[in-house]
Amino acid sequence: MSQVFILGDFAGDKCTKTTAELATAAARSGSVTAIVLAAPGAGATLAATVKHGPIANVLVVESTDFATHGVAAAADAIAQIIAQKSPNALLIASHAYGKEVAGRVAVATESGIITDAVDVAADLTATQLVFGGSTTVHSKVSNGVPIITVRPNSIEADLSDSTPAVENLSLTISDAAKLATTTSSTPPVKGGRPELTEAQVVVSGGRGTNGDFSAVEGFADSLGAAVGASRAATDAGWYPHSHQVGQTGKTVSPQLYVACGISGAIQHRAGMQTSKTIAVVNKDPEAPIFDLADFGVVGDLFAVLPQATQGVVAQKS
Ligand SMILES: Cc1cc2nc3c(=O)[nH]c(=O)nc-3n(C[C@H](O)[C@H](O)[C@H](O)COP(=O)(O)OP(=O)(O)OC[C@H]3O[C@@H](n4cnc5c(N)ncnc54)[C@H](O)[C@@H]3O)c2cc1C
Repeated sequence: MSQVFILGDFAGDKCTKTTAELATAAARSGSVTAIVLAAPGAGATLAATVKHGPIANVLVVESTDFATHGVAAAADAIAQIIAQKSPNALLIASHAYGKEVAGRVAVATESGIITDAVDVAADLTATQLVFGGSTTVHSKVSNGVPIITVRPNSIEADLSDSTPAVENLSLTISDAAKLATTTSSTPPVKGGRPELTEAQVVVSGGRGTNGDFSAVEGFADSLGAAVGASRAATDAGWYPHSHQVGQTGKTVSPQLYVACGISGAIQHRAGMQTSKTIAVVNKDPEAPIFDLADFGVVGDLFAVLPQATQGVVAQKS
């Protein structure tokens, strides 16, 4: 039977929903094995959280090198696993870390790579949206082990329980993967909101906020949403660049994206138009963002959002 490997995706010591999304896509092509890269002694704890989605096996590799030599060590371990186990494909989450690991694994294994897929078919044909989402591309890797990075939230995850068999692998990270060493790192200060690229709901503000994100944040908090921003807002210093959505920011595919005071420039659309449902609040009925909207309110966001927030809060109580 065909075997598809996925790289387990974790937030701290917990497996993310993205892992189940990768597994769901991978299971269309064969039996799924999740790779877990862990610090010494942490593998069993991490592996125990890999329990949702159609995952048959978990392969655990423990090494201090993952912390000290970062993506190079991770890619080296995965390349060794591919050499040993010969899977039919490898799927990795399409965030900055995942794409860097995927690129390095592709070089090390002389394999083709497809990044930012929004879907993967049973025959490993990947679907990508390119040119700001105006063009859909279907492509297949023709060389080596297909390596495909998949955007979080693009695939509806099968979250059914699984009890995968756990195998521990002992590997030695090569000296070539240890040429750069991380001497210290500071994790980002976490607010109470979900991570932008993994959130089910994103509420974004643009120039229309005029620098006051309180209405956007209030509405986001009522929905348990992440907050995004257009480049106009981040360039003005109104919101951190780490929250920018778009071509030069982050790509999001939430169940619901709410664009507030954002005109809908092509560069912004590139980062959000694969959202399942798009709602818009803009005082200009001619704003191009309305072309994408499933629901739109023509109005001042400072009047609309507080009312919407009250409505959500009232529904919850
Ligand atoms: C190479 C390149 C890369 C880029 N990358 C990105 C990117 O990653 N992400 C990105 O977002 N942009 C990016 N841009 C910039 C992009 O072209 C736009 O300039 C930007 O998206 C505009 O942001 P905006 O929609 O917030 O502002 P504007 O285009 O100025 O739109 C503001 C909107 O707010 C509405 N509005 C005003 N007041 C209110 C109110 N009180 N209530 C409701 N609505 C109101 C207006 O009607 C208007 O539609 C990039 C540009 C280039 C050239």
